[in-house]
Amino acid sequence: MNTKIKQIANTLNGKEVDMTFITNPTTMNYLTGVEMDPHERIAGLMIFPDREPIFFTPALEVEMTRSKVDFEVFGYVDSENPWKMIKDKVDSFGLNVRKIGVEFSDITMLKTEGLKSVFSADFVNLAPLISRMRLIKSADEIEKLIVAGDYADKCFEIGFKAAQKPGITEIEIATEIEFGIKKLGVPGMSFDTIVLSGARAANPHGVPEEFVVEQNKLLLFDLGVIKNGYVSDATRTISLGKPSDFDREIYNIVLEAQLAAQDYIKPGVTAESVDKVARDVITKAGYGEYFTHRLGHGIGMDIHEYPSIVEGEELVLEAGMCFSDEPGIYIPNKVGVRIEDCLYVTETGANPLTHTSKELTIY
Ligand code: MN
Ligand code: MN
Repeated sequence: MNTKIKQIANTLNGKEVDMTFITNPTTMNYLTGVEMDPHERIAGLMIFPDREPIFFTPALEVEMTRSKVDFEVFGYVDSENPWKMIKDKVDSFGLNVRKIGVEFSDITMLKTEGLKSVFSADFVNLAPLISRMRLIKSADEIEKLIVAGDYADKCFEIGFKAAQKPGITEIEIATEIEFGIKKLGVPGMSFDTIVLSGARAANPHGVPEEFVVEQNKLLLFDLGVIKNGYVSDATRTISLGKPSDFDREIYNIVLEAQLAAQDYIKPGVTAESVDKVARDVITKAGYGEYFTHRLGHGIGMDIHEYPSIVEGEELVLEAGMCFSDEPGIYIPNKVGVRIEDCLYVTETGANPLTHTSKELTIY
């Protein structure tokens, strides 16, 4: 039993929870190193207060799972009833299950109904405990986040080069980035690559289309990869040809806000105060109403984790926390600018995980 699983087992003891049924693939990976997505099949990590855990998986995942964990793994074939097998296994331990810990944010109704069909038990939410455990990254995790960040920088390099080809579209640039980075050994993107030209970037959730990128306009890239189970997420806005004075002014305000937050972050300050530092810059410049989202989100194995860098989040920052610093100004039908780095908090400040220049670069 590793230290993370032991920590959960100890917590179960205190809360009189008899077992867990952990279903979130990211949590399974975090706790055991097993990378598996069972899709609609049933997989659950079962941790108990007073005995070794067991891992229940589809039969086709049993061998792979056994190679990663040092405790019992058992599986079912598609023609078997998984819930009955789970119940029989637990009965063989002589356990009377009254409370089951699950992640309310992940488990489906179908699976809770499955558990209820064999156990007369109440459910307890494990998600807050697991979020707290994942909040402070170990040195090893930060190392993996640094690697994922380096690949995001490489994506920008590929994308900025592609953007200079005459007549290229947003979707073609996004495709070149993803093709190029996968050739370097990256298994996947952490989300679909965003490339948006000119006023189209005023939609913070815009998607690239068959739209030829405009000259003398800004071009926004938001992207990230997954590598070794950890993700990156970064945004740069560049200019193709000479930007208008207005676009340049907006860009410089966003950059000032982004850097102000980066310089301010250190252990002991609250998450909401970081948001305020960046937001004040944009508000004082007169564009507060166009900064329509929180400053940032936690990052790690998932693209959005705890903590949220937002007004009302009083969490005090500590070394090892990782999150994004991504102010933006989005003026409909005019311009959209966002600049984003994820950072990890150090003993004295914060280090960004991406290093592509943030000065307005003109291609
Ligand atoms: Mn982000
Ligand atoms: Mn992003």
